[in-house]
Amino acid sequence: MFNLILFGPPGSGKGTQSEKLVDKYGLVHLSTGNLLREEIKSETPLGLEAKKFIDKGQLVPDEVVIGMVDSYFDKHKDARGFLFDGFPRTVAQAEALDKLLELKKNGIAAVLALEVGEEELIARLLNRGKTSGRSDDTDEAVIRKRFSVYSQETSPVAEHYRKQDKFHSIKGEGSVDAIFDALSSAIDDRLNVNS
Ligand code: ADP
Repeated sequence: MFNLILFGPPGSGKGTQSEKLVDKYGLVHLSTGNLLREEIKSETPLGLEAKKFIDKGQLVPDEVVIGMVDSYFDKHKDARGFLFDGFPRTVAQAEALDKLLELKKNGIAAVLALEVGEEELIARLLNRGKTSGRSDDTDEAVIRKRFSVYSQETSPVAEHYRKQDKFHSIKGEGSVDAIFDALSSAIDDRLNVNS
């Protein structure tokens, strides 16, 4: 298995780049944000609970997200690898992911982090909010709350993978294709190391 984490703040382009990466490398896309929005749309108990946190710009509790990831693994037993997008978002989630993959005699090959300045991020999110129908993208106060949660709870995940020598920063500003090329070269380098 070849597992990658696409890391970065809200609006850094993880969703856009994930779609291209899963096509190129034949990976299964695991976006916890998308999975949560599907639960909300289907009005499941998990979705109704998650919505309370998402609408305020807070993180959904770790045990809810980890349980959801675990059942997604069960549904994709023959995947040749996963691309994690928006997960792990806390150190506890990263530790749980490492353990779940260890049970499969597997691990994370690389963490690719998209670096984008905060003002650019806010502009992108407000712009996305005009068409996405995502209420968490229309209110600037909710967007700012997500950034503060990101710097307090999610940034430490970078250190977790730096210690494992798996963390790579990629410039996330420029054209979609240029960023995709930079991501692809970092992945190809990693594939060569692993093979
Ligand atoms: P973005 O990265 O643009 O904020 P996502 O679609 O990844 O968008 O996530 C939207 C919201 O869903 C987050 O603000 C958070 O409330 C919730 N969420 C998504 N993934 C996780 C996760 N791994 N842990 C906790 N909450 C999550």
